[in-house]
Amino acid sequence: MFDLTLSFDNGPTPEVTPHVLDALARRDVTSTFFVIGEKLVQHRALAERAHAEGHWIGNHTWSHSRPFGLMDADAAISEFDRTQQAIGSLMHRHRLFRPYGQGGNLDKRLLSRAAVEHLAREKATIVVWSALPHDWQDPDGWVERALDQIAVQPWSLMVLHDLPTGAMRHLDRFLGLVADRGGRVRQDFPPDCLPMIDGRLTQPLERYLAD
Ligand SMILES: [Zn+2]
Repeated sequence: MFDLTLSFDNGPTPEVTPHVLDALARRDVTSTFFVIGEKLVQHRALAERAHAEGHWIGNHTWSHSRPFGLMDADAAISEFDRTQQAIGSLMHRHRLFRPYGQGGNLDKRLLSRAAVEHLAREKATIVVWSALPHDWQDPDGWVERALDQIAVQPWSLMVLHDLPTGAMRHLDRFLGLVADRGGRVRQDFPPDCLPMIDGRLTQPLERYLAD
């Protein structure tokens, strides 16, 4: 038995997000979509559909260009604020923010002190992750890696991507295999993946902060 929370980053994407939503609906699964601001303003209807179907919408930066730890403070703050504005009424009440990890790196590139201070002022909730099957690099092989990763921890928060790599063709099969193995898919987040909740730190952030 294990629990699994799913998140879909880097959308919305017209060729992919509707298919992901269909697969999740078939399996009666809800998740979170961490959207890129500049894509959201072009494809807002997709996020509206996700929201209407019970999924949560979070901020995944405006341009997804550089991790906040490698960006100057004003640029990082603007990346966050513009995306919050674009999400508007679709934003989850805990103001979910997923930092850009440039390939999924949970390290000192992730955030800067100035960015964290801004996130605290804005009462944001920082959502990191604990399972990363690299679906974008291995569109067919990610399912096996994902199953291996979630089998060895009691509750995983997985990052997948609603991007046109072909990987999401396997989403329905993956969800079937999770169910076959006794996995329980849930929408809420494991506490260890939330280093900040509503602007309050829940764990030291040093390991994610640029020096
Ligand atoms: Zn991303």
